Amino acid sequence: MYLVIGAGLSGCVVAERIAKELNKEVHIIDRRNHVGGNIHDYVDENGVMVHTYGPHAFHTNHKQVWDYLSQFTEWKPYFHHVEGYIDGQDVPIPFNFNTIEKLFPQEYANNLIHELITEFGINKKVTILELLQNEKFKDLAQFVYEKVFLGYTQKQWDKKPEELDISVSSRVPIYTSKDDRYFQDTYQAIPEQGYTKLIENMIQSPLINVSLETDFSDIDVSQYEKIIYTGMIDEYFNYSLGKLPYRSLEFTLKTIDKPQYQNTAQKNYSSNFDFTRITEYKHFLDQNTEKTTIALEYPKAYEEGINEPYYPIPSDENHALYVQYRKLAKNEKNVIFLGRLAEYKYYNMDQIVKSALYTFEKEIYVK
Ligand SMILES: Cc1cc2nc3c(=O)[nH]c(=O)nc-3n(C[C@H](O)[C@H](O)[C@H](O)COP(=O)(O)OP(=O)(O)OC[C@H]3O[C@@H](n4cnc5c(N)ncnc54)[C@H](O)[C@@H]3O)c2cc1C
Repeated sequence: MYLVIGAGLSGCVVAERIAKELNKEVHIIDRRNHVGGNIHDYVDENGVMVHTYGPHAFHTNHKQVWDYLSQFTEWKPYFHHVEGYIDGQDVPIPFNFNTIEKLFPQEYANNLIHELITEFGINKKVTILELLQNEKFKDLAQFVYEKVFLGYTQKQWDKKPEELDISVSSRVPIYTSKDDRYFQDTYQAIPEQGYTKLIENMIQSPLINVSLETDFSDIDVSQYEKIIYTGMIDEYFNYSLGKLPYRSLEFTLKTIDKPQYQNTAQKNYSSNFDFTRITEYKHFLDQNTEKTTIALEYPKAYEEGINEPYYPIPSDENHALYVQYRKLAKNEKNVIFLGRLAEYKYYNMDQIVKSALYTFEKEIYVK
């Protein structure tokens, strides 16, 4: 029998594969009282499908991932739109030609758009770091940096941007386009009956047995032929080399007594607000409800046992510590470390599925 620690997306994909392809029994455990890990969702008292651990929009270019997940759900097409509250106006994010036209005087905006097309072409994502390197676009880069990136990033990570890994600031793009969608991936949709239902369908084989509110430390591992561990890698080793730091989030849910609160599922607040974004959940499934549910999102320090470890904090030092744990993990011959916590890495859902399918093929499936 196989043991899977964690009933999140990565653990459940591997469990499904083991049951289906190897015809073997799998025991999944999770310390939480529900399956799905961070993609868990539920219908609240307003009839709105709420994502328990923050807004999740599925998007991928991987047909294999799309086809795999489509066995377990019908989809509702959904294109994620994000607005930013900048200088008193709601504007599309990422910063694109529509944003430029909304925020700048017409002639200036037209010239800027013309120069951006000439320099970078159309439908290109150009990072603010790239813009800063070009004299012509320094003002624009500075504007986007201050109004979109700086306040948000300081709140998100409780750090100055220069203290952060370059990958964080380089991720902030402007888009040389009038396409307001947040992602341009081929496949974009939300599971019609929610992510939790998708997961439940995935693990419904009689060979799969789930124990909730069960911690890895409560388990006698001797009865299992292999363990797939999707929890925190430092916790597995009792933090023997030190703790890998995380950033956490707090969501304040509010019922608003009208059908709609904002135009898009997500609205970002850069400066002057202590929350980073407001999510209005009904947009994801285009639900028709009398009241609406919103979540204000506050970044927080991660405190063990008090809140959730959401984001690994990117820095050379933290990565080096992770690499040390990874070396220890290599000696655990019967354990596979998989997922965002075990790999100390931010993964989108499609990347998690891809990686879990790959791990099954390479490390578990024996013909
Ligand atoms: C705020 C936020 C928004 C996101 N939005 C998107 C998005 O829009 N689109 C997208 O593609 N991705 C998004 N993601 C990423 C997505 O949430 C992850 O890719 C996915 O949830 C990772 O799955 P996982 O199985 O690796 O981890 P998890 O979902 O964290 O599952 C791990 C499970 O293991 C359990 N566990 C850990 N240790 C133990 C233990 N010792 N004993 C028992 N159980 C244990 C945990 O309780 C947890 O349920 C977002 C992430 C965050 C934080």
